[in-house]
This record gives sequence, structure tokens and C-alpha cells, in this order.
Amino acid sequence: MIDVNRKGDVWVFGEQHDGQLEDTPIELMSKARHLADTLGVKLAAAVLGDNVKNSATRLIHYGADKVYLAEHPLLAAYQTNSYAKIISELIRKHQPQIVLYGATIAGRDLAPRIASAIKAGLTADCTDLQIGDYKSGQSSELHRNLLYQIRPAFGGNIIATIINYDRWPQMATVREGVMPMPEPDPGRKGEIIEEKVQLSQEDLPLEILAEHKRQKKVNLKAARIVVAGGAGVASKDNFKLIWDLANCFGAAPAATRAAVDLGFIDSDHQVGQTGTTVRPSLYIAVGISGAIQHQAGMSESQKIVAINNDPDAPIFQIAHYKIVGDLNEIVPKMIKAIKTVARDL
Ligand code: FAD
Repeated sequence: MIDVNRKGDVWVFGEQHDGQLEDTPIELMSKARHLADTLGVKLAAAVLGDNVKNSATRLIHYGADKVYLAEHPLLAAYQTNSYAKIISELIRKHQPQIVLYGATIAGRDLAPRIASAIKAGLTADCTDLQIGDYKSGQSSELHRNLLYQIRPAFGGNIIATIINYDRWPQMATVREGVMPMPEPDPGRKGEIIEEKVQLSQEDLPLEILAEHKRQKKVNLKAARIVVAGGAGVASKDNFKLIWDLANCFGAAPAATRAAVDLGFIDSDHQVGQTGTTVRPSLYIAVGISGAIQHQAGMSESQKIVAINNDPDAPIFQIAHYKIVGDLNEIVPKMIKAIKTVARDL
């Protein structure tokens, strides 16, 4: 365990690939800013790579007070061992009290390695973070200003608050898309602290021969309108209704896990706890019951329209506009009406 430092800063891992900052560290900045302000400490980011100062500057624009920048040719491509080694060293040296990572592929790989190396705790896949106190049962000792690490548990049926009062730093990965993107302030000033990096080929047991990047078939997170279909759509052929309605709006087609499991659409389109989290201006839910695991990925949508033949479907509890009826009658009428309006414009 590293020295307990409850006065340390709040850190965000500034994940970048090929000089492009990921969305998740940016999404994390506003929440991390709030945590740092609540604790009265600075917000810092750690950026690793080769020639990545631009990412450090951008994180300052998004709210970081300082950025620890570790640049080295051997850090150009993400590798577990080298990144875990450098970040563990930085944590030991600067002793933050909180370190946050996006629950991206790299973040989910990296954070447990670091937790193990520095004997810290780690909560995976958080959907919210807060600061609060905790009185431990046995000693009745009051622990102040702990990180409440909040996430769904037991298949999403409860929301658990996890705390870590005797391991430091407190670390969590945070789901992609659950926190809104802050607006950048290009005039914002901060400090970039260049760290000396000592790495050799032995720190990288893998040699990367070629990188194959798979593009997702749909960018649900960026869509302003999402039209999602569920098991109620009944077949892959009938799912054409969802694609047609989505096309009318220039929207992204999406689905529940049940619809994905039934083979109606590819898993890239899945919204929910184990899919993508979206917060569009308009979310149209067609033949979707509204299970808690689905709501976890769409309940922050600005306006929700639900079409379901069961008036008691849970989706209606969060819908702003409720259409009770058979989707096979309603959706074609909607498509026709939208096309008529578009033609008359
Ligand atoms: P159903 O629950 O079967 O609902 C179908 C709905 O269609 C019903 O409400 C029915 O009334 C309506 N309907 C039927 N026919 C018509 C018609 N003709 N016209 C109008 N309405 C009609 N789910 C997700 O979506 N995303 C996730 O990320 C996710 N992650 C999960 C993680 C875990 C650990 C677990 C345990 C589950 C997860 N699930 C997830 C599954 C989730 O619990 C539900 O099973 C799923 O969301 C249900 O999908 P659905 O609404 O399409 O199907």
C-alpha cells in the first residue's frame, strides 16, 4: 500500500490513441472537476504516448489544472505492461487520492494492473461518483470525504455504492457515455508537467506487428435521434420498420439486448447496461418493455417516445410521450406521416 494521502489530487487517465484523445477522459472531466472542487484539491490528468502534448493541452481546456505528460517512443502504442509501469510510478511519486479511468478496452485492461501493482482498490464500470463519509462498523471510526463509487450490481437490479476506506488511491473505471461531455474553454490555462520516462524493450514483452482497428457499425453516442426496437418487433424482417423509421429522421437504429440476441440486428446497436449509453435529444422505443438494464443506457435521453401494446410496460414510466398500441400499425403510419410532412416542406 502506498502512503495514505488524503490530501492528494484527483486524477483522470487521459487515454489517447495515435494522438487522438478518447471521448471518455473528456466525459470524466466535469465529474472529476466537481469531485476535486468538493475536496478542495487540484484536478490532474496523466497522458502517456509519443508526441501527445496536444492531448494534454486539450485536457486543460476541458478542466484539468495540471497534466503529467509522459512521452517516449515506446509509449506510442498502448501496451499493458509499459503503461501500467509508468502510471504506477507516477501515482507513487505524486500520490493522488483518486484516480479515474474510462471503462474502455484499454482502461479495463490497465486499471486492474495498476491496482495490483500499488495494492489499491478498484471498482469497475461505475455509472456515478460522489464524495461522502463512512462510519466503519467495528471501530465506529468516521472516514470523511471518501469516493462513493456507484454502479449497478446483481444484474442491474440494485445500485450499489462501493467505498474503499483503507486503500489509497481510490480508483474506479467509469462507463463510457454516462457523463455528459463538457464544453471546452480554449482560453483555459494549466500546467503541463513533463515526466522523465525510463523504458526499455524489456518493459514491452509484446511486439506489435500490425494494428487492425474495427470500426463500430454505428456511432450511437453521437446520434441526436435514436430509434430503438425490441423483442416486440418480432422478427429480423419486421425490424426493417425500425430502419425505415430511423431513416425518416436521419436517426441511428438501435436495439435492446433481447433484439440483438434474437438476431434482429448487430450487437454494435445495443443500448443499455452492457451496450452503449446514449443521451440523444429524442429516443423512440418501439416494442421495448423498458427493463432496468435497458433504461440504464437511455434514461438520460431528453425526450422519450415509447410505443408498446402493454399499457403497463415499465418503459411508459420514463416516457414523455406514450403510444399504446400495435407497433405494426403505428410505425407505418408514423413513417407515412413524416414522409408527407417532408414532401410538403
Ligand atoms: P421484452 O422484455 O420481451 O419486451 C418486449 C416488449 O414488446 C413488451 O413490453 C411487449 O409488450 C412489447 N410488444 C410485443 N409485441 C408488440 C407489438 N406488436 N406492438 C407493440 N409492443 C409490442 N437489455 C438491454 O436492452 N440492454 C442491455 O445492455 C442489457 N444488459 C443486461 C445485462 C444483464 C446483466 C442482464 C441480466 C440483462 C441485460 N439486459 C439488457 C436484458 C434485459 O434485462 C431485458 O431482458 C431486455 O432489455 C428486454 O428487451 P425487450 O424490451 O426488447 O424485450
